[in-house]
Amino acid sequence: MRLDYLTIFPDYLAPLTLSLPGKAAESGLLDVRVHDLRQWTHDRHRTVDDTPYGGGAGMVMRPEPFGEAFDELGLDAGTTVVFTTPSGRPFTQELARELARRERLVFCLGRYEGIDQRVIDHAGAVARVEEISLGDYVLNGGEVAALAITEAVVRLLPGFMGNAESLAEESHEGGLLEYPVYTKPASWRGLDVPPVLLGGDHGRIAAWRHERAVARTAERRPDLLHPSHAVGEWTFEPAVPADTGEIMTLWRACWVQEAIANEALDIPVLRESYEQVRDDIGAWQTWVARSRGRLVATARGRWTDAPDGSGQRWWLIGRVCAAPDLQGRGLGRAALEHVQATAPPEATTFMLFTGHRSEENHRFYRRNGFRMRPDLPSEPGTVMLTKRKR
Ligand code: SAM
Repeated sequence: MRLDYLTIFPDYLAPLTLSLPGKAAESGLLDVRVHDLRQWTHDRHRTVDDTPYGGGAGMVMRPEPFGEAFDELGLDAGTTVVFTTPSGRPFTQELARELARRERLVFCLGRYEGIDQRVIDHAGAVARVEEISLGDYVLNGGEVAALAITEAVVRLLPGFMGNAESLAEESHEGGLLEYPVYTKPASWRGLDVPPVLLGGDHGRIAAWRHERAVARTAERRPDLLHPSHAVGEWTFEPAVPADTGEIMTLWRACWVQEAIANEALDIPVLRESYEQVRDDIGAWQTWVARSRGRLVATARGRWTDAPDGSGQRWWLIGRVCAAPDLQGRGLGRAALEHVQATAPPEATTFMLFTGHRSEENHRFYRRNGFRMRPDLPSEPGTVMLTKRKR
């Protein structure tokens, strides 16, 4: 790959001869040429800038030195001319991969208030142009941006990195940030390496790393995460008929576990039609939780006659569930708490039923203050639970 740099501070690009890019240049993988833009000026002061047309602060880089540089370097359709600018396309790993496939990059590095627009338009007429920003902040010149872009691109060139595998596992390669990494010693200043990494079980290590990568991405860069990984931020809203399809899909996914635990497919939730689910939304006080658009949990409540013969009315809770891939993060508990908190103030007792053999559910409800009530009549294969409202 050939890399040309047009700059008024060639010394700023000295790091290009250091470290891996330097080695790659020595081995012939890279042909790096740094050019002092002032060599294409013709006045005594070697001027590269002038005042902006239309007025305003600062100076603008004149087009002629760039034009002469392009003529001498010879731009063609196989060349990509990179303009570093805060108003460019944000630089990402994906863009780095794209640039790594190009034959030749010519970096035009701005200073002052930037480069005369006609330089960019002219380059675009003979070559490919990329205007690239390093981020949403303003640097003094394009050199630092060019160094960063070069380093990210060059390390993707085949044969550049000794260990290609280390590229595949890095942040942004799989759309996730990288998991935390550790080396020896196993214990340092009272801080221990997570035991799973010392065990040698590659399946468990891979699962742990994936889970840490997802959690870290969710915490630091939720914008990178596919909605299916969304955690933490959910809001409960009353369900509306338009939610029917998603509710039905979630319930079927959740209650398959119940069917397996109870060895019974004959569970109402697995048999209900779309119309039935839609009509029940209005017949109950039905709540759905969404996390960045995705429907991830439900719960519902309505009045029922107390089955203990007391003549009271209790608040019957049902369909408390969280998407199977998001379980263990407090979403189910949030659904259960929400349906209790939004019950009418007159409700003194909550009641719900679950599969006789759904032991996980029994533990979950007991942890949340419910009591098993085998003394109360219930549908075959189910058990009642109640909780007094405090
Ligand atoms: N007036 C320009 C603007 O507001 O867009 C900023 C000019 S800046 C002081 C000078 C040069 O630094 C730019 O021409 C560009 O080459 C470079 N530069 C500044 N911030 C940059 C960024 N975030 N990404 C890439 N290059 C940047």
